[in-house]
Formats: sequence, C-alpha cells, structure tokens
Amino acid sequence: MTKGLPIIISGPSGAGKTTLYKMAIETIPEVTHSVSYTTRAPRPGDVDGEDYHFVSEAEFEDMAREGRFIEDAHIHGNRYGTGRSELEGLLLKGSHVLLEIDVQGAASLRTALDEAVYIFICPPSLQACKERLTTRGSDSAEVIERRLRAAVDEVREAALYDYVIINEDINTSFEALKAVIKAESIKTPRMAEKIKELFSL
Ligand code: 5GP
Repeated sequence: MTKGLPIIISGPSGAGKTTLYKMAIETIPEVTHSVSYTTRAPRPGDVDGEDYHFVSEAEFEDMAREGRFIEDAHIHGNRYGTGRSELEGLLLKGSHVLLEIDVQGAASLRTALDEAVYIFICPPSLQACKERLTTRGSDSAEVIERRLRAAVDEVREAALYDYVIINEDINTSFEALKAVIKAESIKTPRMAEKIKELFSL
C-alpha cells in the first residue's frame, strides 16, 4: 500500500487554521489526524484523546526523553508534541495525516520526514487575527496580545512553506486547501508506486 502523506498546516492563532483543519478532517475521506500531546490545560469543550492528549509536564518530559515525539515545541508557555508511533502508524495505513503544528514543529519535521507538504495559513491582517481571537472568547486580553506579537514573527516563516493560503474567506481557503491536498497526493512519484501496485509490476 502507498504510504499516506503528512500534511503540515501552520499559521498564527486567529488565522483560521483550526477551522480549516477540522473541515478537512470531517469532509475529506483520505485525510485523518494525529492527536498531539500537550501540557496546556484543557479549554472548555476540549476532549482528552480527541483534541489533544493532555499530559503533565513530567509525563511530557519522560516521553520527550524516550524519543516518543517526532517533533515537539514550547509554545506560549506550554509544550506540544506529535507522537512518533501514532504518526507513522497512520501513514502506514495509507491515510494522509494533517498536522496542525507551529512553525518550530514544522522546522523540525523538515529534517525528520522525507516527504511532507507544508502549508501556511496566513490571516489577511493582524486586525483580522485580533477580531477572531476576541470573538472566540477563549483567551484573556493578555494572552491575545501575546499571541498577536507572536503572529508577526510567525508570518516571517511563511516563505519556508510550499503553499500559502491567505484566509480572507473560509470557504475559498478550504477550496484551496482541498486543491493542494488533491494535487500533492497524485504527484508522479506517489502514482508510480500506485501503478506498480495496481499492475503488479
Ligand atoms: P492551542 O493551544 O491553541 O490548541 O495551540 C497552540 C499552538 O500549538 C497552535 O499554533 C498549534 O498549531 C500548535 N500545536 C498543536 N499541536 C502541536 C504539536 O503537536 N506540535 C507543535 N509543534 N505544535 C502544535
């Protein structure tokens, strides 16, 4: 079976990447997600094992020491990591795995993974980011200010990605995301393997 493709989505808080990520998971059958680990406290509505595996600092540290993360990062005072065996298991089953991770995590994956697609979701402006974070209502004014400052540093990294989607309208952005996933999944090297499989070459 042809291995699935890791699809990395990054972008500042308030860019709309979580919405796009959820739309993709829910509506594109070939796409699945790997549940990340985090030390941050669950927000109202967060489900352990679905949104994240919520773990203590000590548990996270043990896992990191044992090499159980393919990448991990410190973000806004918390730690986040992608489980190595979870990701590899899903790819081996042939699913494309969407990873919503920060720019540090994406940088680590560029060396850790042979094949992956990197997509940067950019807000149309800082003001739009601020409005989205404020409307979401899940972060304090201080946290929002911190996230907006981080956003400026993050957009500088956009040039390192394969694709940039400026998210002015969620449906248009989702069409772009679907088009990228479709095109990347039928690139010649992947199809060469598929043809071998289909025709027992
Ligand atoms: P939040 O706390 O709002 O759910 O996520 C904060 C940031 O952590 C987001 O930018 C998100 O993309 C990033 N993030 C979530 N899971 C991971 C992960 O497994 N690894 C890395 N590097 N970043 C992650």
